[in-house]
Formats: sequence, C-alpha cells, structure tokens
Amino acid sequence: MVLDAYKSPNFDERGDVKPSLIILHYTGMETMMGAVQKLIDPDSKVSAHYTVDEDGTVYRHVDESKRAWHAGHSFWRGETDINKHSIGIEIVNPGHEWGYRPFTGHQMKSVTDLCRDIMNRHGIEDENVLGHSDVAPSRKQDPGEYFPWKDLALQGIGVWPDPSDEDAVKAAGLNIERALHDFGYDSRVKLRDKITAFQRHFVHEAFANGQAGEADQLTRVRLYALLAGHLLEPQ
Ligand SMILES: [Zn+2]
Repeated sequence: MVLDAYKSPNFDERGDVKPSLIILHYTGMETMMGAVQKLIDPDSKVSAHYTVDEDGTVYRHVDESKRAWHAGHSFWRGETDINKHSIGIEIVNPGHEWGYRPFTGHQMKSVTDLCRDIMNRHGIEDENVLGHSDVAPSRKQDPGEYFPWKDLALQGIGVWPDPSDEDAVKAAGLNIERALHDFGYDSRVKLRDKITAFQRHFVHEAFANGQAGEADQLTRVRLYALLAGHLLEPQ
C-alpha cells in the first residue's frame, strides 16, 4: 500500500526527461519519523519519491513526474544530474552512523514490488537500479553492504554477475580502474572509493573479511562478468 500522508515540497521539474534510473538509499537516521520529517521539511532541501518503512509501509513524498532531491553531487555513465533522470527510494535503516542492521522481509517485499512497478511503467532497464553509493562513492555508503542486491536481481530488479570459468581466468588481467569506469563509475573518484562502492553492491564478502577497498580476485571476476553481460537469470 502506498500512502500519501507525508508529501514533500522539495522538488522541481524534470523537463522533458523520463526517469531511466532507480536510486536506492537508506534513511540513515535513528527513527523513521525523524527521516520523514526531514524529507518533508522545506528548509532541508532534500526529498525522495518514496520511503519504505521497516514494516513494509510505503510513503509517497513526491510524484514520479517531478524531480526529487535525493542524489546530490553524483555521476553515472557520464550523467551528473542524477535527480533529473531517476526515481529515489529511501529505505528505513539507521545506517552506519546509528546502528546499521539488516533490512526486514516486509521492507524488501515492498521495495521489490515498488521497483518492479516503477520499472514496468517507465521501461527502466534492469542494470539501471543502483545504490546511492554507486553514484556518489566518496560521499555515500547507502544502502550499504547488508542490502540484498542478489535477491533483488533474482526477481528481475537490478543485475547480478554470473561468471563463467573463462571469466575467472580473463579477470586476472583486468584494468580495474578502466573497468569500473566502463561499468559506470566516475573516473574522477579515488580508485579505492570506487572499488569499495562496487563491493558494497556486488561483493559483500569483502566486508565480511575486512578486504573492502582491495581489488581481490572475486571483485575482478564479478566486474568482468558484469561487463561481459554474463548475468544471473531472474527466477
Ligand atoms: Zn542516500
């Protein structure tokens, strides 16, 4: 269910542009209401199209036809006005500052349904569902390394690499910096920040073993497979 209880005045026009990206965030505040109050406060100058609470409730703050203010200074595949080209979804979680925790099942069910609906209505490509950290690697960590990107990809939302044996061999010679740029990351960003952002999305193992920021073999192989278009099929 989508509730219009908390509409935000923080938006402007997209112009002729149709949304082609979905940017996923966590709220990064202690409470859901704290986050919502900020998103609807005219002085905050921030917003998103939706917030998904931990119980699965979806609040709509800004109409999809309008440009919400969620991505800030950002970049993806040459585009720097990410707000103009995207729909922004905030997912309630205290985040790294206030006690990062796993997203709930109710929440992920709502995020899945909402993303699928948005993708169908606007014809958004699977590969264009991204995290805030993908488009702003040096500034942002959200939605973070607990976000179940692989589960979403299995349901046709976003993509997940499915490397072949050959990919694993070829990936050893990958120019990691160029490959991250080819995938979409901003070449002006520090390499370590880009690797970490890629791992927050595609290599959660790097956080479990304390190797975040290092371009290890698993990172190379998954990036190689993504660029080769070797992707997990939705189930
Ligand atoms: Zn964010």
